[in-house]
Amino acid sequence: MVTSHFFSSLSRFSPAHDTVGVPDMVQPPVLMVVVDTEEEFDWSSPLDRRARSVTAMAAIEIAQAIFDDFGVRPVYVVDYPVVSQEAGWAVLKPLSQEKRAIIGAHLHPWVNPPFLEEITPAHSFPGNLPLHLEREKLAALTRQIESSLGIQPVIYKAGRYGIGPNTPTILRQLGYMIDLSPAPPYDFSSCGGPDFSLASNHPRTMGSGDDILSFPATGDYIGQLAFSRPVAHRLHQAAAHPFFRPLRLPGILARTRLLERVRLSPEGFTLDEMERLTLFLLRQGLRVFSLTFHSPSLQPGCTPYVQSRQDLQRFLSTLRRYLEFFLQRLGGITRTPLEWQSLPTHAESAGHQGRPGGGDGNVDTFMQKCLESGTLDHPSL
Ligand SMILES: [Zn+2]
Repeated sequence: MVTSHFFSSLSRFSPAHDTVGVPDMVQPPVLMVVVDTEEEFDWSSPLDRRARSVTAMAAIEIAQAIFDDFGVRPVYVVDYPVVSQEAGWAVLKPLSQEKRAIIGAHLHPWVNPPFLEEITPAHSFPGNLPLHLEREKLAALTRQIESSLGIQPVIYKAGRYGIGPNTPTILRQLGYMIDLSPAPPYDFSSCGGPDFSLASNHPRTMGSGDDILSFPATGDYIGQLAFSRPVAHRLHQAAAHPFFRPLRLPGILARTRLLERVRLSPEGFTLDEMERLTLFLLRQGLRVFSLTFHSPSLQPGCTPYVQSRQDLQRFLSTLRRYLEFFLQRLGGITRTPLEWQSLPTHAESAGHQGRPGGGDGNVDTFMQKCLESGTLDHPSL
């Protein structure tokens, strides 16, 4: 089982404790895009080994066209049903070969051989499996990626964000270098998963050798009551308690902008929410952002977030307009997780001209330049 100690030790890290540090010193801010590339399944029904349909993969090009327009190379973290069926991997192979995207691994244990475990909610988090089974499943997925796509993946994202105490060791043994699993500020412990409620959004190293670099999926509490993550989390938990359900407190807190839980994703979040999250975290010094969504959202009816063609248009519009916001109005840049070592640092970008990010690296200076240049006109500022 995942131990709370493991994750509390992760969340203890502040940027100052990161042995790498470089990603947090980059200037201007950097955006990574991660697509959980997986089968369609009914998220409200019990998990089913037979749910392996990947028809939504035919819609990948819709999002890829937007990425291409902005020079974004997304990471498609692929799971076993996608990479073991031609309808899944065939659309990805040219994207990888043409270097328009990169490929990582995404482990959904219930549809990933070997099938030795009982299907339970707790076992849907791969980090809860016994070490040998978590490793065998990831090894099978790795071999299948090599077979279908001709590459050896070095980027991993656990299904259901479910990294566990053995995951860093397994990643190292199988040649992985980067993990994308943490999901602050979400807490999955009520169904046996990890608790990221206090986890940082900053990149950090993990594992005994500090040799796995971990980039969280960006998310946080924002609003006037979000001055402290522990306080914000406790308030949000209390507001969501069944006792207060008739009062619909979380909705009231969000509408009044006192307290909102926002993930950097067009799934269930508006452009305005994603922009306010970004500005909130920029002010706190975050410089590496990770936008995420699930590939089945590109086909109406496959996820709760996109049920109709209108939903899909809204989803794609939010994605495009956020990229405009980050890469044009904000003056950010885009990189893949594999390029973190080549990110410009403060000193290297000090002479950066013509963009609001060109400065001395001070967060307030950066924000001030955004305001002065008129590129960042937002009511929250
Ligand atoms: Zn997944």
